Amino acid sequence: MQNKMSRMRKINEIIIHCSDSNYGNKALINKWHLERGWDCIGYHYVINNCYKTYNDYMKKSPDIKNDGNIEIGRPEHIKGAHCMSHNAKSIGICLIGTRNFTGNQITSLYELMKRLICKYGKLEISGHYKYNNSKTCPNIDIEILRIKFADDVPSIESLEEFYKKF
Ligand SMILES: [Zn+2]
Repeated sequence: MQNKMSRMRKINEIIIHCSDSNYGNKALINKWHLERGWDCIGYHYVINNCYKTYNDYMKKSPDIKNDGNIEIGRPEHIKGAHCMSHNAKSIGICLIGTRNFTGNQITSLYELMKRLICKYGKLEISGHYKYNNSKTCPNIDIEILRIKFADDVPSIESLEEFYKKF
């Protein structure tokens, strides 16, 4: 019988994306990706803002509780479909939005990054634009994000200690 670890891929990188839409969630991106003929959503995680649908956004009717919610997309052990030639060893995370992400989304992104680093060890943190010159996705400076994250997380050892408490 196969256990979870034997099915697991080797992960060495987190690649961050944005949805390039002002609204959306896992269900909507899944629908978009199915329409492209893919098996399911190409990202492993989606971090929501407060607008799930186009109508919510147009009516300016925010769902505050949804802001920063992390949804699980494609299972981690299955290779994603989010960054050409870099899917095999990476985890793809998509922030809903175009460029102005909320504080709750960034807090959730850090939390998710911590959990993944704790699980897989040291991971490279990259933006989609690093591998595609024609893209600016996710429209945030990953260098700055990385520096802020490093301030937050002094070492992987300290993270492991932190998560042992749960
Ligand atoms: Zn992208």
